[in-house]
Amino acid sequence: MTNAKGTKTFRILTETTATLPDRADLPAGVAASDVENPYWLWDELPPHPAPEKGCIQRGLCCRSSPGRFAPGEVEQAAALLGKTPDAFVKRYLVIDEVQVDEQTVHVFAPVKLDRKGRPALPTGGPVDKLYQVLRGTCVFFDGTTCKIYDARPWECRAYICTKAPEENPSNADVGRKWLAGADE
Ligand code: SF4
Repeated sequence: MTNAKGTKTFRILTETTATLPDRADLPAGVAASDVENPYWLWDELPPHPAPEKGCIQRGLCCRSSPGRFAPGEVEQAAALLGKTPDAFVKRYLVIDEVQVDEQTVHVFAPVKLDRKGRPALPTGGPVDKLYQVLRGTCVFFDGTTCKIYDARPWECRAYICTKAPEENPSNADVGRKWLAGADE
């Protein structure tokens, strides 16, 4: 939708976004008027200061794409925050779907937050494919660090942004862990 001032608005889930002419983080060659929904715009990652160190907790993936839990990890993360698994899931997690070969597998994942810091999707239940394309900060990221770092999800532990994509875990990899049904 375009209003009288020429600003496009785009409603997604709980919020209305708009093109922001003063955005400073647009990649080269992308005009603000090209961007209908800032969530779906992937910025260029800033260069890693020391690639040989791997993860240095810059929080870049925590700001866009939280990792999924493997079996047994939700219980550990809940205990870290002093919650029962049931209360932890209802407050912080969603149930995402991944494909393993042609099989759909349901896995727990942290909910993503909208730009006002609210869950962008209802917690405690399944989400559709929108979860995977919606960009949003992980509910456990406090702006500096992970609130459950010692019990963070398997994908968060396995993913290193300096690795080649084929060396990082795929959606199917975490799905296989749930199909196997055991901690590794
Ligand atoms: S669980 Fe922790 S490490 Fe994983 S994305 Fe969220 S804040 Fe980052």
